[in-house]
Amino acid sequence: MGWKGLIEEYRKFLPVDQNTPVITLNEGNTPLIFAPKISALINENVNLFLKYEGLNPTGSFKDRGMTMAISKAKQNGAKAVMCASTGNTSASAAAYSARSGLKCIVLIPKGAIALGKLAQALIHGAEVLAIDGNFDQALELVKEITDNYPVTLVNSLNPFRIEGQKTAAFEVCDSLGKAPDYLAIPVGNAGNITAYWKGFNEYKQNNKISNLPVMLGFQAAGSAPIVNKAIVTDPKTIATAIKIGNPASWKSAETARDDSQGLIEAVTDDEILAAYQLLAQTEGVFVEPASAASVAGILKLAKTGYFKNNTPINIVCVLTGHGLKDPDRAIAIIKQPEVISPTVAAVLEKIKLDK
Ligand SMILES: *Cc1c(COP(=O)(O)O)cnc(C)c1O
Repeated sequence: MGWKGLIEEYRKFLPVDQNTPVITLNEGNTPLIFAPKISALINENVNLFLKYEGLNPTGSFKDRGMTMAISKAKQNGAKAVMCASTGNTSASAAAYSARSGLKCIVLIPKGAIALGKLAQALIHGAEVLAIDGNFDQALELVKEITDNYPVTLVNSLNPFRIEGQKTAAFEVCDSLGKAPDYLAIPVGNAGNITAYWKGFNEYKQNNKISNLPVMLGFQAAGSAPIVNKAIVTDPKTIATAIKIGNPASWKSAETARDDSQGLIEAVTDDEILAAYQLLAQTEGVFVEPASAASVAGILKLAKTGYFKNNTPINIVCVLTGHGLKDPDRAIAIIKQPEVISPTVAAVLEKIKLDK
């Protein structure tokens, strides 16, 4: 009958019942794409796969959490929801709120939201306010307001967000027929690494998989509080979706890292942008810059000899958001098309085809 969204697909793993109004845009069921070129850059025994979460309805994995958060808000009688956002949470909250009839209020850091994400929040009818401050400050305001007024917080502090997002781990295992050996993921507010780790553990408890992956998280170097073991008061990175200096799920990200014998490391903006172009130009997969942090991190670890396997291993890189979210970045780093006269001769002069 086709895919009806992740709540229907994974109902028995989720805190929903017959009375939960399922607010869905048929999110989830994103492809796990083999990446032959990037695999070969690591070593001949590596199979690297891309979990392309940019193919969710609003273009990021946030939809997995939002279908749960909004469905539960509806069930619990909420009239309004609120979030702080680096962009994708607001795009998703706005879309699911529009569908459910809830009012949606969004606080964003002024000037720090990619164009596509802002357009989404606005067109779906959210009330969007830009604060003269950063994401961490916006989240503090939202926490205080939602603690004191009848408005439901839909940031990843909302446990239903994590519940929905854990289904991506289920899908990875369902696609591979087992857990991957390594799971690489960008880390911002650290809800998603928390969610994947929860998902893998629940699948193991239910005997769907026999092993757990090693969790490899990557932060942007200018915004790496978990790596540096200190809050970053003025985070800086072109990867706006992970530009967060005081992650809400800091502790549970460390748990995922330590319990899986994994690591959380930093990648520079240059490394992120190199991986961003590599994905687009060798694998045909366009992601937003933050998403490329997972691939940048794997390539960086490979260079240090981290993957010493003589037998085949599977690595899954989570690609969190679509490239069209942030078109300005692509345009800024690639040479613009040249304007020529509209003649065959002028075209041939430029493209130099062999006869
Ligand atoms: C939200 C987001 C992240 C960071 O996820 P966290 O759960 O905050 O760690 C990474 N990439 C993209 C595209 C995002 O939208």
